[in-house]
Formats: sequence, C-alpha cells, structure tokens
Amino acid sequence: MICKICNKKITGRKDKLFCSVKCKNYYHVNLRKATAVVVKELDNILHRNRSILLEIMGKRKIQCRVSRMVLEKKHFVFKYHTHQ
Ligand SMILES: [Zn+2]
Repeated sequence: MICKICNKKITGRKDKLFCSVKCKNYYHVNLRKATAVVVKELDNILHRNRSILLEIMGKRKIQCRVSRMVLEKKHFVFKYHTHQ
C-alpha cells in the first residue's frame, strides 16, 4: 500500500492508509478545514434565507403565503432550507 499523503510505501498492518502519524494528522486536519469552509458557506446561505423570511413574515406569523417572485427578488436560495 502507498501513503495517501506522501506516496511512501506503507509498512505494518495491511489496513493502514498512512505511513505515519504525521501524514494521518495532516489528512484529518485538512479534511476538517475543507469541511469547515463548506459548512460556513452553507450556513451563510441558511442565515440569509432565514433573514429574508423574518423580514417578510415578521416574528409573530407562523404561516403565510409568499409569492416566489418576492423571494427571488431578495435572492432567496430555494435549494437550501432546514424545514417547511
Ligand atoms: Zn505518508
């Protein structure tokens, strides 16, 4: 097997993915960073969507009909929402 990070040959247990703790840590730290970036972007969209709904509906309304055009004008991202 070859290390996913440095391409060195891996010795020891057959199911190992990395040659060393250093390479293993490098992989996980970078994976975490990449995940954080994606989560942050998605979080921003969700927060903006929520603000748009709050602006239109106010705090007291539980349910109301809003035209899609109104939401589109405010750049509501329909692809992302937490519940209906
Ligand atoms: Zn390595």
